[in-house]
Amino acid sequence: MMTEKQVLNQFRAALTLGAKQRAFAKMVPRLIDKAHELGFEVTLGDAYRDPRVFGPIGERKGYGESRSAHKQRLAVDLNLFRDGKYLTETEDHRPLGEWWESQGGTWGGRFSDGNHYSVAHEGIA
Ligand SMILES: [Zn+2]
Repeated sequence: MMTEKQVLNQFRAALTLGAKQRAFAKMVPRLIDKAHELGFEVTLGDAYRDPRVFGPIGERKGYGESRSAHKQRLAVDLNLFRDGKYLTETEDHRPLGEWWESQGGTWGGRFSDGNHYSVAHEGIA
C-alpha cells in the first residue's frame, strides 16, 4: 500500500518538464503563504537561472551549481525573517522545509541548502 506522498511522487515523476514547471508555479504561492502562517516574513531569492548566464545543466558558470533545478525553472530560494531578523541557518527553515516535503517538494535542507525549495526532475533537485 503506497502512502499518499508516494502516490504524489509517482504522479510527479510521470509529468513532463513543462507540466512540472506549471505545477511548481502553483505550489510557490502556497509555500509563501505557509511561511507567513508559520510566523515568518519572506523575501525572494533566485528562481530561474538563465543558461546564457549560468551555463546549461552540467556546466558551472558563476555561483550556481552545475546541476540545479533553478536551470529547469523548478526551484526558488526563499529568505526568511522573523521580527525583522534575517534567519540564515538551515534549521530555521526546517518547519517550512518539512511542510514543503509533505506537499511533494524537495527541501534543500537535506543537502545543506536550507533556503532552497524545489521539485525534483530527472534526478536534479
Ligand atoms: Zn536554490
